[in-house]
Amino acid sequence: MDYKKHVKIVEDWPKEGIKFKDITPLMADGDAFRSAVDEIVEYAKEKEIDIVVGPEARGFIIGCPVSYALGVGFAPVRKEGKLPREVVKVNYGLEYGSNILTIHKDAIKPGQRVLITDDLLATGGTIEATIKLVEELGGIVVGCAFIIELSYLDGLEKLQGYDVLTLMSY
Ligand code: 5GP
Repeated sequence: MDYKKHVKIVEDWPKEGIKFKDITPLMADGDAFRSAVDEIVEYAKEKEIDIVVGPEARGFIIGCPVSYALGVGFAPVRKEGKLPREVVKVNYGLEYGSNILTIHKDAIKPGQRVLITDDLLATGGTIEATIKLVEELGGIVVGCAFIIELSYLDGLEKLQGYDVLTLMSY
């Protein structure tokens, strides 16, 4: 499947100099979206996943259909203040400033096998923070799946030692 024809590159958004990869056309195309989800499900099938975890907001869009197809649950990772019950938190650096991500404390049981999903791997900060949350709860990250990897930002370096699937690279 040629996924790239369904990705629109938006120059200078959200800031000057950034070439944002807009995956909403891919999500809007039934064949492309199903094919992308199916590829991730195939990748995850043999891994005996107990639960899928995805960071807000586009990690939900990918992770939920994958968890449904695998017949396992989904746990959201959200920005601080969004989850209603007791959470664990992680603070991670952004290009300018920092961000806090959280997960419910009881979202993952120790020893559970976790697949993490997101739409795009850029610097790897978001996925690194998500891995920290999962591991703090005793989860085992057995795979990380993305639709897109921006290879010029070296996010894969932060994922050394983890199993990673990316469907396309820029
Ligand atoms: P990172 O933390 O790896 O630098 O950035 C990845 C996160 O930012 C992902 O959650 C992703 O949704 C979002 N992101 C960063 N750049 C882009 C982009 O060009 N396109 C899309 N769709 N998401 C992006």
